[in-house]
Amino acid sequence: MTRPQAAFRGPDPAAASAPAPRREFLPFAPPLIGEEEIQEVVDTLRSSWITTGPKTKRFEQDFATYLGAPGALALNSCTAALHTGLVTLGIGPGAEVITTPMTFAASVNVIEHVGARPVLVDVEPDTLNIDPVLVEEAITPQTRAILPVHYAGHPAALDPIGELASAHKLAVLEDAAHALPAKYNGRPIGAGPNPAAFSFYATKNLTTGEGGMLTGSPDFLASARILSLHGMSRDAWRRYDKGGSWRYDILEPGFKYNMTDIQAALGLWQLRKLERFQQRRREIVGLYNQAFAGVDSLELPVARPEVEHAWHLYVLRLRPETLRIGRDEFVEELARRNIGTSVHFIPIHLHTYYRTKYGYAPGAFPTAYSNFQRMLSLPLNVRLTDLDVADVIEAVLDVVRTHRR
Ligand SMILES: *Cc1c(COP(=O)(O)O)cnc(C)c1O
Repeated sequence: MTRPQAAFRGPDPAAASAPAPRREFLPFAPPLIGEEEIQEVVDTLRSSWITTGPKTKRFEQDFATYLGAPGALALNSCTAALHTGLVTLGIGPGAEVITTPMTFAASVNVIEHVGARPVLVDVEPDTLNIDPVLVEEAITPQTRAILPVHYAGHPAALDPIGELASAHKLAVLEDAAHALPAKYNGRPIGAGPNPAAFSFYATKNLTTGEGGMLTGSPDFLASARILSLHGMSRDAWRRYDKGGSWRYDILEPGFKYNMTDIQAALGLWQLRKLERFQQRRREIVGLYNQAFAGVDSLELPVARPEVEHAWHLYVLRLRPETLRIGRDEFVEELARRNIGTSVHFIPIHLHTYYRTKYGYAPGAFPTAYSNFQRMLSLPLNVRLTDLDVADVIEAVLDVVRTHRR
């Protein structure tokens, strides 16, 4: 098969000054793994300990120290951390858990896993985080917990949520998958009184390929640790070590959620690099904000004064009344210009399982729904060069120019 030749177009006066379009596809969120991580993994593979062991312990300690968290439990995903967290809090059948539709399915799937009922409430229009006013309205005698998600890395309104939780004796479990490292009123997410679940999935600010961390009080984590490894009574990872014993007891039917030392080897170095990674993320956000500030077709992400944003995602919102194309075509136009983007998130209530089980109409959560329809996430990762960032900016501005109403 021969490639069709590009049609020749006459000289375009505008094209003379416009930069050439990008030739290679720019992936949305590739990981940055350095030689240090690679050597640490090799060192683990050459050692006699490849599953949960000394490197996992050290990663937990370093992570807790970095955040100032009372403790940390390394697990094989954030989903595992959320699930373990809910069970440890005693959330089960008959309970209601209030959460947000503007999240990844995992945050809500785990509520179904424990047999509880997820109660969705709409989000605030600026941050797209769960709205505490609507949380209060949704509290019933069955409510046991609130599960806020720090969307895109912007902390949810933890003070009003915390006040509601105290007044109604509810637990709060934070989905902090995007919030490493973020601060609310000067305190790092994960260092507060609530348990928090972090993700080290391949696209997250810190990655171990797959992985997660649960922070919380020492008592909470002691129970969670047992639950996360079969429900075994003792620190079972020592079972095969010198001085370890073959004897163990099952206290409850637990899960198999432990992190391996191969993953922790990656995490140890990613954590050491995190401050530099964040510095670069903030730089890129600054470049995007500067370039898009005066463009009336684009609404920029916000950071409220009381937070330090983790900038996991850079979510642009289109102003549909100014454009002849919608979000889906905008995404396609960027892909045609070799820019990879994504959409975070398809609100939970639009997915078949939740829509059918709970009978949600698309407009049931109008803020989540209307913002979903006009949002897209631009590449925001530490692999981006300044030239890459310039390519993204030029492509976005070109699409806006071409399709302005
Ligand atoms: C990525 C993500 C998760 C799940 O994390 P895993 O580590 O892949 O289990 C949960 N919640 C949110 C908001 C996420 O973005």
